[in-house]
Amino acid sequence: EQASALGTFDGVGRLADGTLLDLLANVGGTADAAAAAGANAQGVGLLRTEFCFLGRDTEPGHDEQVAAYKGVLDAFPGKKVVIRTLDAGADKPLPFLTDSTEPNPALGVRGYRTDTTSPGVLARQLAAIADAATQSNAIVWVMAPMIATAQEAATFAALCAAAGLSTPGVMVEIPSAALTSRHLLDHVEFASLGTNDLTQYTMAADRQLGALASLNDPWQPAVLALVQATVEGAAAQAKHSGGSAKEAPAAKPVSVCGEAAADPALAVVLAGLGVSSLSMAARAIPAVSCVLRSVTSQEARQLAHQALGAKSALAARALVREALPILT
Ligand code: PEP
Ligand code: MG
Repeated sequence: EQASALGTFDGVGRLADGTLLDLLANVGGTADAAAAAGANAQGVGLLRTEFCFLGRDTEPGHDEQVAAYKGVLDAFPGKKVVIRTLDAGADKPLPFLTDSTEPNPALGVRGYRTDTTSPGVLARQLAAIADAATQSNAIVWVMAPMIATAQEAATFAALCAAAGLSTPGVMVEIPSAALTSRHLLDHVEFASLGTNDLTQYTMAADRQLGALASLNDPWQPAVLALVQATVEGAAAQAKHSGGSAKEAPAAKPVSVCGEAAADPALAVVLAGLGVSSLSMAARAIPAVSCVLRSVTSQEARQLAHQALGAKSALAARALVREALPILT
């Protein structure tokens, strides 16, 4: 049963006790989106829009952008598609936006920060996303990469509102954002943890350097603690936003769209920490789904607790893998 289940995904992510956890795909354009839809992904949790325009010297025009986004949206009618605004810089240069002479590109003007050096590009991208959304049947959410402060989240939300986009969100991939998620979520509707960058910035280890791979490991307990802080911040935000209402509104969704979500054992830990959806390369979905279905939410919470308390990434990974018979 395991072997056949590993090959395919039936389109419903859940734990053994029936708790639902959406499994979405990370895509870089129309071809990926078609493959992800074919693999029954429940939607797109991360469209890396910079992949549509890598290496370009000039800003893509409105119609070209609309066509690029619409190609992805059309693969998921009625489903959620989270479009990330351009995350240019560091490992993903876009010559029309980024300065290749920066001494420390990973700490430089990248992602959302390019709105300060190239004003207008982001607003024009949001206008193109809004047009593509109007021409499709997908449920479009938009998020900004490399958000560090609540002020940035507020500014991004205002730009989205001006473009007519009603579901703005932020990526949580900088420790400051994880630690202040409560305040970020006062301004936006959801958060998505980018564990690739969150790990790089937590461990101060360049994600592109193989020599630092043992530091650059999302199983590092410090990274897991920041995931926990992000989810707790979302709960605190909901609790304090209720005003005089008797019952606090539900917490805003916190998802994960970094490579961590594609590691089945780590996916169990992330579920146990309280994230509400996981987005990954489509080919990883069947194995993640299969392992998630082997644990109850209570077991996932227990494993998350143990991983958080481990003294090293190696110890955290080993103890969770040993507790999952399906992986041995
Ligand atoms: C991340 O940082 O985890 C992420 C999903 O974004 P990217 O890998 O594109 O930087
Ligand atoms: Mg990132």
